[in-house]
Amino acid sequence: MSISNFMKKMMLVRQFSSDNGKITVYNVRLVTLAFVSLKEIQNEIMAKLGKGGVSILYNSAKKGGYELTKQLCNIMGISGPKAVELLITGCRELTGWGNFELIDYNSSERKAIFHVSNGPFAEVPGSVESCHFARGLIAGALTYVFNSEVDAIETKCASKGSAFCEFVVQPYANLDVSSKLVKEQLEKI
Ligand SMILES: [Zn+2]
Repeated sequence: MSISNFMKKMMLVRQFSSDNGKITVYNVRLVTLAFVSLKEIQNEIMAKLGKGGVSILYNSAKKGGYELTKQLCNIMGISGPKAVELLITGCRELTGWGNFELIDYNSSERKAIFHVSNGPFAEVPGSVESCHFARGLIAGALTYVFNSEVDAIETKCASKGSAFCEFVVQPYANLDVSSKLVKEQLEKI
């Protein structure tokens, strides 16, 4: 068993702390929970609220993604794609949200594309794109990095049989609001 290089570096710059039951990373408090609990939260919210539940899952994760990225950028003094790459490493090594890959990044258009393999919800077979937490994390992170509000749409999902989940990030105004995926994932309610 070994500590990843990412963890070693974070400890070196004192950005990982575990103190009397409180774990912080880049000054943001983290908690871990069994994935089965998270899956149950999503199932309960979706069962009780239907489509309205999607925005709760997405927006709560978006807030966390924004805050973590803001702290990371401020503390490490980085921005742009460099910050995104560090977040990707952090997600892979520390959070269990899967193996993120940045496929496309265009700051002038405020657009980015991510592929994510081994995401937790990928293990739950389904008929619709279901990685709302990951989608929110990405949207929140890129909203901070671009310094402008953006949203993310999951265009491929491993839970539907794709080899990876694909997330496309761009400003809401540039989205095709008549498309089925945008209606399902981002309908403003
Ligand atoms: Zn997915």
